Amino acid sequence: MSPPSLIQATAPSVHSAPTALSYELFPPKNQAAEATLWNTIRELESTNPDYVSVTYGANGSNRDTAVQLLNRLLTETSLLPLAHLTCVGNTAEELEGIISELLDHGVRGILALRGDLPQGAPAEPRHGSLAYAQDLVELIRRVEQRRSALLCAGKVAIGVAAYPARHPESPSIEHDVEVLLAKQRSGADFAITQVFFHADQYKDLVNRARRAGVSIPIIPGVMPLTSLRRVQRLGVITGVEPSTSLLDALARADDAAESRRIGVKVTVELARAALDAGAPGIHLYTFNEHAAALEVLDKLQLLRPGRPAVHPRASTIAAGTSRLVRA
Ligand code: FAD
Repeated sequence: MSPPSLIQATAPSVHSAPTALSYELFPPKNQAAEATLWNTIRELESTNPDYVSVTYGANGSNRDTAVQLLNRLLTETSLLPLAHLTCVGNTAEELEGIISELLDHGVRGILALRGDLPQGAPAEPRHGSLAYAQDLVELIRRVEQRRSALLCAGKVAIGVAAYPARHPESPSIEHDVEVLLAKQRSGADFAITQVFFHADQYKDLVNRARRAGVSIPIIPGVMPLTSLRRVQRLGVITGVEPSTSLLDALARADDAAESRRIGVKVTVELARAALDAGAPGIHLYTFNEHAAALEVLDKLQLLRPGRPAVHPRASTIAAGTSRLVRA
């Protein structure tokens, strides 16, 4: 009799991981923005995301408000925060201070970024400052090692950025993949992508990354593309060329409601195509607004863990009776 096979004969679907869901928020700039943000946070919280990320100004320009927001998320909500951290212009010593502060507050996930270079930045970076996100990943791992007893030998989850369209400063998309591989080798656990306007760009990035040896999850970052102004501005900020068909469609829209309908439809199609291509989750850039994000989510019908099933407002946000969560 042959020994029992170690290979699972059962269908893998019952063991397949549910789709991850996360949102990006940014620290509020004033009291009115803070009130709006907290309304958004409560709406998003009821969809049980796996984590919410909090952006960080390059050079630590909004360090205090970012830490305050992370702290409130930890103490006043059920949400798990992922703290963005940028290293541009900061020394290892300064960054160790902020990493330690984040860990002391109870943050256990950091998105390690270089940050955008300030306009007119000198060609030579400040002496002793970290040059690349890869250096920050290594620094976080060193701080983690020193604090292993405090972390009960647990790990900090480290995310990094990935680029479906070439990073504006990068010589090629091949170079971008080499950089992603280097960040993985230095200790990154997962990647979140920059916005993209064509699903093929995401699929292509994942294929090229896998061929190069990148094995970490690459989560597509998707933004509700609901207004012409936002899409145009996004193109300027990120250096990613918006799709001309989307720009044309938004420009032809009669009013904000139609613009929004078009944007939600395109965003859902983009996210759906990424999921169909095997994306392990969706990271929604919210701009601190919940309505469009929830509408996209409602239409996506994600397979989510068995948590409370339906966001109370999801069914009223979009027409129809579709449910936010399928399982
Ligand atoms: P890196 O990975 O360091 O890459 C920066 C450039 O250097 C690239 O051109 C890369 O090709 C090159 N490079 C990297 N390593 C090497 C190397 N070893 N040798 C040679 N070249 C190298 N910005 C903020 O300021 N705050 C935020 O909160 C923020 N959140 C973001 C979230 C996501 C999901 C994404 C995708 C981006 C975010 N950004 C944020 C923007 C980000 O900081 C910029 O895109 C920045 O220009 C690059 O950051 P990075 O971490 O990809 O840098």
